[in-house]
Amino acid sequence: MKTLEQIAAELQGYDPQALSCAGVGEFLSRLVEPVAQVEEVGIFDALARVLARDVISPVSVPPHDNSAMDGYAFDGAQLSADAPLVLTVVGTALAGKAWQGCVKAGECLKIMTGAILPGGLDTVVPQEFAQVEADRITIPPRLLKPGDNRRLKGEDLLQGQPALQKGELLAPAALGLVASLGIKTVPAYRRLRVAYFSTGDEILSLGEAPREGAVYDSNRYTVFGLLSRLGCEVIDLGVVRDDPALLEAAFTQAARQADAIITSGGVSVGEADYTRAMMKKLGDVAFWRIAMRPGRPMAVGRIPVTPSSGAGRFAAGPPQGETAPPGGSEPREAGSVGAILFGLPGNPVAVMVTFLAFVRPALLRMMGCTADAPPLLKARSAEAIRKKPGRSEYQRGIVSTAPDGSLQVRTTGNQGSGVLSSMVQANGLIVLHHAQGNVAAGDAVDVMMFDGAM
Ligand code: AMP
Ligand code: MG
Repeated sequence: MKTLEQIAAELQGYDPQALSCAGVGEFLSRLVEPVAQVEEVGIFDALARVLARDVISPVSVPPHDNSAMDGYAFDGAQLSADAPLVLTVVGTALAGKAWQGCVKAGECLKIMTGAILPGGLDTVVPQEFAQVEADRITIPPRLLKPGDNRRLKGEDLLQGQPALQKGELLAPAALGLVASLGIKTVPAYRRLRVAYFSTGDEILSLGEAPREGAVYDSNRYTVFGLLSRLGCEVIDLGVVRDDPALLEAAFTQAARQADAIITSGGVSVGEADYTRAMMKKLGDVAFWRIAMRPGRPMAVGRIPVTPSSGAGRFAAGPPQGETAPPGGSEPREAGSVGAILFGLPGNPVAVMVTFLAFVRPALLRMMGCTADAPPLLKARSAEAIRKKPGRSEYQRGIVSTAPDGSLQVRTTGNQGSGVLSSMVQANGLIVLHHAQGNVAAGDAVDVMMFDGAM
């Protein structure tokens, strides 16, 4: 396990006061590791889990050559380019039953989709292309080649080959694939446990009476939603007052119960609160100024487990008047080393953007996922966008199909880092890269679509 100092020493030109987004990604990929525990889970519990070992196919899928169409099966060697082929129907093969018998030259078999192709038959004429007269069919010339409308044994999966690979994030298609092999359970990494809380004396929990200068906590809810979409077990530690004892209790409880801790607020320079001080005191934590907008300040590190860790779910300060989301409250396995800390900025949009840009990829890695991030989409900007080179910007965008069929994107308007309604209207983030300058209307820009992540 590397210390932050060791990781920093490995990175070229690491400057915590002016870190590029690429630098943040590089740092985090060196900081986090997949959870060690693997469990065998049933298919219904496997969605959004990550496969911990290859799944080897015990069978070939499909197990036999079979028909892709309802029609007539025959030996394709009899096809000729010059003359129609006339065949006598000698029986019917249904799906789910092997047809017993022999089909000779000049003969064919009526066959249903999915039915096994008996030996010697390799071609199927779809029923709508065969002229049928009593027990004889006529196939026009040049309509078919040998092998047409045949599904080959093992064309989906071959026996003994990996059907799914370690590191795969299990999506609906993978669940079906596992089932198609007759397999009931898969080895998966255990679910990641993520604790989160909001900080700031001006932050109200739901149920508290409004007061001047105070705002209702929204970050815990967006973070809850983002984590739930990832399939994490969530541990909600509420809003934690700006009080050293409460903050310490929250951090220590989170470190004991969770693999990762997400906080919001209190990480910018000049904050008149104890959050930064407590992170520094309890863990190995770096405070960054990232060359990005929104989301400049961020703290990252590791909070070790201390013997005095608080007990009980809401030891750190229960959210008032609320029911907590379902989630893990069990302590982790013995010997756990603590939790990775993501100290996000306070502004609601900055929280979501830094989560999507940095925390989500890091958590996926901790979940054991080895897939690359999905590619960004290219769309034409419907408007000019001002952008300074030397920092990354994430603007809320609405992608739509232009009348000519191409993709276009417009911004949601007010891009303030506290304007959460812009995140609701948007269906993606326009990613303006570090070195990029102003965008003219009609220029292509990169977009990170929300679909799947939120
Ligand atoms: P901070 O990073 O703590 O300086 O917070 C920046 C801004 O985000 C301030 O206007 C805060 O009131 C606001 N903020 C911080 N935490 C939350 C939260 N949990 N929900 C909504 N707004 C917040
Ligand atoms: Mg604050």
